[in-house]
Amino acid sequence: MRGLVTKSTGSWYQVLGPDNVRYECRIKGKFRTHGIKSTNPVAVGDWVEFELEPGQQIGVINELEPRKNYIIRKSVNLSKQTQIIGANLDQAILVVTLASPATSTGFIDRFLVTAEAYGIPALLIFNKLDLFSEEGLELLAEFMALYEDLGYPCYAVSALEGEHIEEVRALLKDKTTLVSGHSGVGKSTLVNAVVPEADLKTGEISDWSDKGKHTTTFAEMIDLPFGGKLIDTPGIRELGIVDIEPQELSHFFPEMRALMNQCKFHNCRHINEPGCAVLQAVEEGEIEPSRYDSYISIYNNENNRN
Ligand code: GDP
Ligand code: ZN
Repeated sequence: MRGLVTKSTGSWYQVLGPDNVRYECRIKGKFRTHGIKSTNPVAVGDWVEFELEPGQQIGVINELEPRKNYIIRKSVNLSKQTQIIGANLDQAILVVTLASPATSTGFIDRFLVTAEAYGIPALLIFNKLDLFSEEGLELLAEFMALYEDLGYPCYAVSALEGEHIEEVRALLKDKTTLVSGHSGVGKSTLVNAVVPEADLKTGEISDWSDKGKHTTTFAEMIDLPFGGKLIDTPGIRELGIVDIEPQELSHFFPEMRALMNQCKFHNCRHINEPGCAVLQAVEEGEIEPSRYDSYISIYNNENNRN
């Protein structure tokens, strides 16, 4: 049977069969992973071939269909291990907030770079709109304008008060969307506001890989009653940036990508080279300092790791 993976733990997968039944499945020993190494060879959003064990409701996944795309993350403690957190995505949403606990621009930018690197359109949802004073709203507008100008659609909502939730539903309709967010930003509250049927627990903190608890689900697909699918990533605080060469990094910053071929040196790192068009744009205020800081910070981490 052909099925869609809707849940994954370290060793079990839930697969939605053509009969609309969800089967618990394991993976067969030898398995073609299309060249991607990870702790979970199969991820939520994957299409697979599976068969049921005789007389049982338990299945075995035999084959993985090639993916349109995927997002992978490096686990924080097990630095050599990677997890695929979602496959066959139409878009990725990061839920952020400027109010308790404020999401840093570094965190936002790492998410956007990851999405760029995997060719997945990214959007930002700014939550907790209800907490903003007039001053706060101005700051929020500036933030949103910064990212909108870079080509990332931005939305402001209050998950708690149900403000602008219809806009979020319209965004999600008929698409497969990965939703991520630092814990505390209100991701669960937002998902519950959008899909009350999902009934996610709020206010919980967990992380599948970091605590080594292999029983906790680390990604789950939620069927949207109005059409579409949401891949929730409970406990995944951050997408690690994997497989990006430092010299490629500026390709994943749209504002740098646009200037790169104006640098004097074709292999410019945009750090201290003479005739660097990126540095000039930073100086002239055309590139936001926080974005350039993120570039440097990611660049340095990547270098240190190798
Ligand atoms: P998660 O860790 O991102 O899933 O966050 P939760 O959904 O568990 O929410 C964390 C806290 O933020 C809870 O106390 C929520 O009630 C609160 N919260 C979530 N959304 C909003 C919002 O729009 N406005 C306000 N004021 N609080 C919110
Ligand atoms: Zn340069």
